Amino acid sequence: MPSVVALIPARSGSERVPDKNIRPLAGHPLLAYAIAAAHQAGVFDRVVCSTDSGKIGEVAQRYGADVPFLRPAELATSTSPDIEWITHALDQLDEHYDLFAIVRATNPFRGADVLRRGLEQLLATPEADSIRAVELVKQHPGKMWVLEGRTMRPLLEQAHLDVAWHAGQYQRPWIFLKATTDDGAVGWAEITDSHGSPHGLAGIVEDLAPHVVGRDPRAVERIVWDLFRATRQSPGSVIQKAIGGIENALLDLKAKALGVPVYELFGGPTRDDVAVYWSHCGTTRARAWDVTNTPKLASYDEVTALGREVVERGFKAFKTNIVVPGDEPQVLMPGFGGDGLDRNPSPELEDALVRLLDAFHAGTGGQAQPIVDLNFNLTAEGVLRIARALDGRDLLWLEVDAFDPVSLAAVRSGSSIPICSGENLYTNRGFRPFLAAAAMDVASVDVIWNGFHQAKKIADLAETFEVNCAPHNYYSHLATFISAQWCAAIPNVRILEVDVDDVPWREQLTTSVPEIANGVLTIPSGPGWGVDVNEDVLREHPWS
Ligand SMILES: [Mg+2]
Repeated sequence: MPSVVALIPARSGSERVPDKNIRPLAGHPLLAYAIAAAHQAGVFDRVVCSTDSGKIGEVAQRYGADVPFLRPAELATSTSPDIEWITHALDQLDEHYDLFAIVRATNPFRGADVLRRGLEQLLATPEADSIRAVELVKQHPGKMWVLEGRTMRPLLEQAHLDVAWHAGQYQRPWIFLKATTDDGAVGWAEITDSHGSPHGLAGIVEDLAPHVVGRDPRAVERIVWDLFRATRQSPGSVIQKAIGGIENALLDLKAKALGVPVYELFGGPTRDDVAVYWSHCGTTRARAWDVTNTPKLASYDEVTALGREVVERGFKAFKTNIVVPGDEPQVLMPGFGGDGLDRNPSPELEDALVRLLDAFHAGTGGQAQPIVDLNFNLTAEGVLRIARALDGRDLLWLEVDAFDPVSLAAVRSGSSIPICSGENLYTNRGFRPFLAAAAMDVASVDVIWNGFHQAKKIADLAETFEVNCAPHNYYSHLATFISAQWCAAIPNVRILEVDVDDVPWREQLTTSVPEIANGVLTIPSGPGWGVDVNEDVLREHPWS
């Protein structure tokens, strides 16, 4: 019988769930279950916990693990590969072991029998030097296995992919633009586009680069107008998104060179903080709960629990979509894909929204106002039916995208719920007919796609129509910093959009994260946007 050591990793530094390895479950820390399973398996000569924390080490010892060393901090970062801490642990142990097993504390449902079966399987498979799993996983397609006699093989071949398949079920590739100067200064912008052509957008930036490279970056407005002239016959859409990104990267450069926040270049700050709402509330837990490590929206009770969470976390408003919870939760988006071209109203869709809002209300107790975003999913007829069905539910607004100002104005005049629109409109030229038609109560302005100064011109135009602006913002934290700066440069803000649920590594992607408390975000005051991009983290998450 070979000698075997169980290695239980328990680093202290999880940013998302502090001290996750010793979080209590049914009266004991998670770590205790891993230690108990390892002992009960009866196959390990020693059960060792590798931690960088004295506190976690004490807990591990109390529950029967050996802690003969503390792991150095540099081997306990969020990106430390297993091979490093394992090599360190094996080096630290006096004895030599023929085999080791990693027993993770955060999977308390893997019992002694699974550990035992894993070892038996390995010993019965002389051609294998390691074994990954002996238990079926039901929820991650990319982690599903096919039983083949005594062994399992992956259901999906992944060797050819840069990014694991299970991370690709729902993807919105974040795209960043970096401008550098001869003297090494760096300006950042985000130009995320998940509506058709991320590759095209990146290509446009390359096409436009010759208009910018080699010039004095401080004359931002002149450069933006030259880019507009060069693309005048292809206005808006991805062209505008590229120009907006270039404008923002140059503004970041200029403000950093002057040592001021960008809002200072525009006469700000007009405010020190701004109210925010929780966007894609429930939507993300329905379509991307697995990649965001959030609870799956499996029932209306979960919706109610989420409503409670909104209030507990201090938000006074939240936005959701046409979400149907369940074992396989759905987000209905007929305007963007799926069966049926017609975007017709249906009783099922109305009922789904009413039931969703009622479930949220049971959790919020009316302490947070809902927003429903219908996007492009219904024609004007359908939007009006929804507006009537949701009347009396205290909506902050009903959000609608439409390409015709007159029909949207008809929706607004027929709805007792305020109408917010505009996220797909570009520049003040795009907004002018909608404002002139009195088509919106609130203007949704995308500062990323328009560029900061061009977006400010939209706000100034909206102000002359007595309309306030709510930045459209559903990207990385960099975009939230940019949008917050914009709020501090204009006099007519309604509220700022922020996503709460997102991939865990979003928190490491930027040098700091937005400061939000009680539903209010503090305007960042550092030079430029007040934040930079961590390029190392960016490189760890390529998209293709
Ligand atoms: Mg929207």
